[in-house]
Amino acid sequence: MQMNENNKLKKMQMYLLNAEENALPKDAYLQVDFACNAKCIMCDIWKNPFIGDTVLLYSIIDKLSNLNFEYITLWGGEPLLHPKIDDLIVYAKNKGLKVQMITNGSLLDEHIDVICEHVNNLVVSIDSGNASIHDDIRNKPRHFFISC
Ligand code: SF4
Repeated sequence: MQMNENNKLKKMQMYLLNAEENALPKDAYLQVDFACNAKCIMCDIWKNPFIGDTVLLYSIIDKLSNLNFEYITLWGGEPLLHPKIDDLIVYAKNKGLKVQMITNGSLLDEHIDVICEHVNNLVVSIDSGNASIHDDIRNKPRHFFISC
């Protein structure tokens, strides 16, 4: 599994290396991991956790910056589970990219300083306005109150 996902990242790196700037969009979504601390009933990412290769992720951010992408959206799985996510956020911002993130919201407290300073747009996924329905979908007690 890990090898397959690293191969996908390498393919993306190769695509960017060979792309012409004017043929590219300006908004990239970078999946930093395939791991999650929730266990949603409609999702199987959490069953085979995988953490993206940090060196490869840095090199993709470099390439996006060099090609004048405007936005990078970091997502997963749960991107805040990547052990280097704070460094990746700061690195992308310092490279001139506007940083967006899609998260399930459960780990915001641990990363709040970096997020407040460097993340331009934060998307928190909530499955229901009803806490017990949300928690049932996530298969995780009290997830709604941790995320909201
Ligand atoms: S929070 Fe998102 S990534 Fe995590 S298990 Fe649910 S749907 Fe999948």
